[in-house]
Amino acid sequence: MPTNNSAIRKQLLKAREILWQEKLELSKKSNKVIASLQLNVPGWPKTTQRIERVKDTVITSFYNFLVQKGIESTYTFFSNNVFGTVPFFLFDSPADKIKQLAIDFEENYPIGRFIDIDILNKKQEFVEREKKRQCFFCGRLAIDCMREKRHSIEDLRRYFDEKLSDFLAAQPFNSMSFHLLE
Ligand SMILES: [Zn+2]
Repeated sequence: MPTNNSAIRKQLLKAREILWQEKLELSKKSNKVIASLQLNVPGWPKTTQRIERVKDTVITSFYNFLVQKGIESTYTFFSNNVFGTVPFFLFDSPADKIKQLAIDFEENYPIGRFIDIDILNKKQEFVEREKKRQCFFCGRLAIDCMREKRHSIEDLRRYFDEKLSDFLAAQPFNSMSFHLLE
């Protein structure tokens, strides 16, 4: 893992590019709507064993949420060193419908503000959110906080780690294997 900022930035850019190419290829090959799910992790590293553990729970929850809404999907996993596991869900349902459900999920799930679900339609275009996202830290518009650098990365990361701990503590089945792992 790199420790200086420009090396980190370079590695992030490269990983994002690879992820995008992978998604594009899958989209063309499958001709399906694709949802990719990531956690919005402030600072570095972008993944740890703990983060992966949380992600597992979120992935299962999202899948079950869709089933409850009558939406069928299949999924496949992409993985790299920078982002860890990134699930790609594939759908025959319309992209707009999936986007709306993804927003409902993000807005109602306990750590939903940290969850980013991107939807790619069959023409390989992203389906945009109409309502802008709130900053998970202060609740104002996330884009403004980013532009104005309102919060330090250290504060954001500390907040993120705290919320993850609360989340894990509330998972009765995960907490035990989680303690064994740490
Ligand atoms: Zn903020």
